[in-house]
Amino acid sequence: MSYSVVWFKKDLRLHDHAALRQALDAGPVLCVFCVEPHLWRQADASTQHYRFVIECLRDLWSELRSVGLKLHVVTADAPDFMERLFAASPFKRIYSHQETGNGASFQRDIAVARWCCAHGVAWHEVPQFGVQRGSANRDAWSRHWHGHMSLPQSTLPTASAHDTVPLPWVEPPPPDALTLGLQQPDKPRRQAGGRAIALQLLRSFIADRSRQYRGGISSPLRAVDACSRSSPYLTWGCLSVREVWQAVQYRRASEAPPAPKHLAGLNAFGSRLHWHCHFIQKLESEPSIEFHNMHRGYDGLRESEHKPEHFAALVSGRTGWPLVDACVAMLRETGWVNFRMRAMLVSVAAYPLWLHWRPVGEWLATEFLDYEPGIHWSQMQMQSGTTGINTARIYNPIKQARDQDPEGRFVREWLPAMRKVPDTWLFEPWRMPAEMQLRCGLRVGGPDADIPTPLVDLERATRLAKIRLFALRAQPEVKAAKAAIVRQHGSRTFVRKRAGKVPPVAVPAQLELL
Ligand SMILES: Cc1cc2nc3c(=O)[nH]c(=O)nc-3n(C[C@H](O)[C@H](O)[C@H](O)COP(=O)(O)OP(=O)(O)OC[C@H]3O[C@@H](n4cnc5c(N)ncnc54)[C@H](O)[C@@H]3O)c2cc1C
Repeated sequence: MSYSVVWFKKDLRLHDHAALRQALDAGPVLCVFCVEPHLWRQADASTQHYRFVIECLRDLWSELRSVGLKLHVVTADAPDFMERLFAASPFKRIYSHQETGNGASFQRDIAVARWCCAHGVAWHEVPQFGVQRGSANRDAWSRHWHGHMSLPQSTLPTASAHDTVPLPWVEPPPPDALTLGLQQPDKPRRQAGGRAIALQLLRSFIADRSRQYRGGISSPLRAVDACSRSSPYLTWGCLSVREVWQAVQYRRASEAPPAPKHLAGLNAFGSRLHWHCHFIQKLESEPSIEFHNMHRGYDGLRESEHKPEHFAALVSGRTGWPLVDACVAMLRETGWVNFRMRAMLVSVAAYPLWLHWRPVGEWLATEFLDYEPGIHWSQMQMQSGTTGINTARIYNPIKQARDQDPEGRFVREWLPAMRKVPDTWLFEPWRMPAEMQLRCGLRVGGPDADIPTPLVDLERATRLAKIRLFALRAQPEVKAAKAAIVRQHGSRTFVRKRAGKVPPVAVPAQLELL
């Protein structure tokens, strides 16, 4: 019997799943998700990601069952799985969504493509974002993105029963994280996986929380509710970007129009969905930016100067700058901090601590529940000043604390020692006089201190970093190489603005959200 394999990757949903739809149109299917040991052994993988995925798979399993399909969760690298399945029960086609993943998943996809060629199997890869395969024409990119987002969402054929093919062997349940070699503890307060939770969050955001989006997303305290918190669900595809974008357009255009602040929040959120794909496109077009500077003129800037004590202070949340250490503490517990705090963490690492973005990015990849390689590595480079095309934004952690957490509520929530620090010393506790420390029952500085002293003088170290970066940036050959990077990766805001005026196409019947 001829059948298709539906290979679920980072698209753990039934809704708006074009690959599944095409496979069902072609005949009987076998639905599979591979727990791939090789991918889970990579340095950017962590226990929280794995457990989150397992939770998503439970929802997907139920969703598929509700339409008469069965999800098989198989522990094997995808090329090995295809080989084993083909030997036992030959198939003609694989359907999946296109994936822009890390280097390991890219190599895995190349291996699967080669295997398909060798075995006469057709692999149909369907785009699931506004990302274009390979190198994209950036001038027309925004128009293409809006075109993709405006298309009707994919639905399932209306058959009463779908033809499914059983797995020809009995598969044991997926292993636990430790068996896969994942050593880190799970995050006790991370977001739980699955489409049901994703939909709840999205509904509450679109209906209500988005009112606070503009103005609420910069503060690490307010952002927890003001942001959509949809990122891990977009990363693992529990939600499709298109359904989210269309739900926003639908709310914008509804009969009871949102108040101006609400509308501003929805618009700003919509533009983030555009950024989502804009950043992933960079990695899709140039996979090497996961490992190498986007602008190779910056090679050698930091590589040979890795200071292990700076790195250790950062990852253990002991830099001495309270806002930085509080963000690390929050990440450790929840797997999430807001954009501005992520940018600040990377800026502190890249400038005063002068750390290369690779080890910092690898560490943060394991800390962020929503780790999405295309966004992550592009942002790591952008905030470290190595893209060559973005203005260097250098965040001062003391100024950020004054602006975003003036009363110290955030740092006191995440750093118990800071609860004892009087307001006067909130932003620079290492300056507390010894007698004040005694009175507060605190020790500042020294190896076992309650609060460490920063390893570098912030102002001096940042000034030096700027001098080095700008000296390199001013070199003629570095300047000359910029134009090509803008051509390949730069956003075309003028096109986006024009394209933004295209009336949105939403198909209410398909909007399960509202
Ligand atoms: C160094 C660094 C690393 C980052 N790594 C990731 C990552 O691995 N995965 C990830 O999803 N986001 C990443 N971001 C972007 C951003 O911080 C998160 O998307 C956001 O904080 C997630 O929370 P949310 O879903 O509530 O976001 P919202 O503000 O509600 O945004 C909605 C969605 O838009 C997209 N988005 C938002 N901001 C950005 C942005 N600046 N660039 C691109 N897409 C954006 C995300 O998909 C997000 O889920 C990174 C930012 C920085 C500075």
